[in-house]
Amino acid sequence: MTTTYDNVDPAEVAKFNALASGWWDTEGQSKPLHEINPLRLRYIESRSPLKGQQAIDVGCGGGILTEALAKADAQATGIDMGETALKIARLHAMEAELTVNYEHITVEQKAEQSAAQFDVVTCMEMLEHVPDPVSIIKSCSQLVKPGGDVFFSTLNRHPKAYLFAVLGAEYLLKMLPKGTHDYQRFIRPSEMAAWCRQAGLEVADITGLSYSPLTKKYSLGDDVAVNYLMHCRRPLD
Ligand code: SAH
Repeated sequence: MTTTYDNVDPAEVAKFNALASGWWDTEGQSKPLHEINPLRLRYIESRSPLKGQQAIDVGCGGGILTEALAKADAQATGIDMGETALKIARLHAMEAELTVNYEHITVEQKAEQSAAQFDVVTCMEMLEHVPDPVSIIKSCSQLVKPGGDVFFSTLNRHPKAYLFAVLGAEYLLKMLPKGTHDYQRFIRPSEMAAWCRQAGLEVADITGLSYSPLTKKYSLGDDVAVNYLMHCRRPLD
């Protein structure tokens, strides 16, 4: 039986499934995710305790961030709609001797099942791959406990993002396969902030994540034109 889910773009999920073992090849197509991982973990840790906390990573892929959450002693869950990505994630966690609960479930279904169960929700580099990002944000807001933290990251619909994330990364430097990103699905920080507030979240911070082609390094800072992280909080009831 084939089930279709309204808010899953099968072509998008297939792209990431095709990465297969490439998820953990730090010199392969996931290289950018591996390089930004310590930065985003530092951002999360500086804003929310992880030790002993219930954390869920939405659109976890091969588990690059999910494992980092587990290593920081969170009780980590990862959900994704890519079966192959999850298989790789499970295998890798086993090899790394980490306990992570991986589930093949939509975030909308998970939110119905486990509303207000998580202290920390992360959803990174995923919103720009779904038909309806607002529904994902709402579900993340449902998953987090009152007083808990939600972290998003995505690409900005800004000409500089087109230049860096599409032309630069996919065509010029060939860091990512062509067609990885669709500029029309990029999200401006103002749109993200409005959607988060509509979903009942408070926006605590927006921080830019940028890449320098000169030093070939990523850094956190004020420049939100390409990629950015957003920290939201669900107010106490
Ligand atoms: N968050 C991970 C992976 C980012 S790649 C990281 O930053 O390291 C984007 C991931 O989103 C892929 O694994 C893809 O399968 C997943 N994805 C895309 N649409 C989805 C959907 N509707 N529901 C759940 N996961 C989805």
